Amino acid sequence: MHNILIIGAGGVGSVVAHKCAMLPEIFGQITLASRTLSKCEAIAAEVKQRTGREITTASVDADVVEQTVALIRQCGAKLLINVALPYQDLHLMDACLEAGCDYLDTANYEPLDLAKFEYSWQWAYQNRFSDAGLSALLGSGFDPGVTNVFTRWALKHHFDEIHTLDIIDVNGGDHGKAFATNFNPEINIREVTAPCRHFEEGAFVESPPMSKHQSFECPDGVGTYEIYRMYHEELESLVKHMPTLRRAQFWMSFSPNYLKHLEVLQNVGMTRIDPVSYQGMQIVPLQFLKAVLPNPGDLGQSTKGRTCIGNVITGVQNGQFKAIYVYNICDHEACFAEVGSQAISYTTGVPAMIGAKQMLAGGWRKPGVWNIEQHDPDGFMADLNVHGLPWQCIELSSEAAAALKVC
Ligand code: NDP
Repeated sequence: MHNILIIGAGGVGSVVAHKCAMLPEIFGQITLASRTLSKCEAIAAEVKQRTGREITTASVDADVVEQTVALIRQCGAKLLINVALPYQDLHLMDACLEAGCDYLDTANYEPLDLAKFEYSWQWAYQNRFSDAGLSALLGSGFDPGVTNVFTRWALKHHFDEIHTLDIIDVNGGDHGKAFATNFNPEINIREVTAPCRHFEEGAFVESPPMSKHQSFECPDGVGTYEIYRMYHEELESLVKHMPTLRRAQFWMSFSPNYLKHLEVLQNVGMTRIDPVSYQGMQIVPLQFLKAVLPNPGDLGQSTKGRTCIGNVITGVQNGQFKAIYVYNICDHEACFAEVGSQAISYTTGVPAMIGAKQMLAGGWRKPGVWNIEQHDPDGFMADLNVHGLPWQCIELSSEAAAALKVC
């Protein structure tokens, strides 16, 4: 049993708190801290009601390193699970180094004033973590996270070499709102309005946002959706750690309604991240937009349908072409019934808990800074089946792989 500190009391933080509380043999005292104490207290009350476990709550500004250091020391945390925002990553890694605590997150660092995310800032901590004998696990959500583990597992069990990777993230859910994002609106909109980048023959190639799309039929009757190619952070670490990849792309489904609203918001300047002067105050339009949009953590009540996220992978085994599709399907209403959250928060929070479990009790704790695909995938894959995200793997003929049209 180990004490842990969860930072961030949003949609994802709530799922992590619930799922960790369900494993008392691994997770000892759980402390949930965020900027707003009342959000932590509300989650703690739900956790108590659903699992019978008491969790401790605290208020912290994760951008102030000394506050986090004091909190880690006070609660005796062995591992800090960062499910606040990507802006906090480096401050929380600094706090872990100072207080002697391991670190895990689900999204790579992004500067507040620059819509750019990449791993270089966090990879630069490699020597400091390794010298301190501490371990950091980067990207333990679904994508990044499970999609990286799927790729490593495929390489271990199905291929001698992987050549192409297409990560396809379909949300076939409907929240019944005119416009809402499934996770933090500011981070979501910054991500989807960025130029697209995909990896091809040794280099990343840039194209305009949302300029390439195709129709994709999900298995098991989830439905057929329009998926759009976009940049996603796991491409950067996967092509580094799997150098035989010749092409790697990421696709996400968007409804025409979502895209219509996004286009208007962009056109009128509401997605800007630079401050504008309004009635004597400086406000950032995207932050104001977040304040008026539905809170993703509250969408669980109304969201129906399923997500389908997985990887189409091709390569060779024993000199022969091989293609597989490995995926998870997750039902929004089932997630709500279990932990009071929609499936996007659930599919992020469950892998964060499993990554933490692997670090504390599954042999993933080695000094340094690691992307999740650098660890052995088998325990994590087994845990997905046990803890709410069962996966399927189907082998595709070359015709079937081509028919999926991820090209
Ligand atoms: P929310 O906006 O719902 O929650 C974020 C929480 O972080 C809020 O409780 C907020 O506190 C807290 N927070 C923000 N700044 C600070 C700070 N300076 N100090 C302390 N707490 C702070 O976000 P989500 O739960 O939707 O997402 C959480 C993370 O998960 C994000 O980083 C997101 O990018 C990542 N994510 C990863 C996915 C994956 O598959 N890998 C998928 C989806 C999300 P308060 O409101 O109290 O101010």
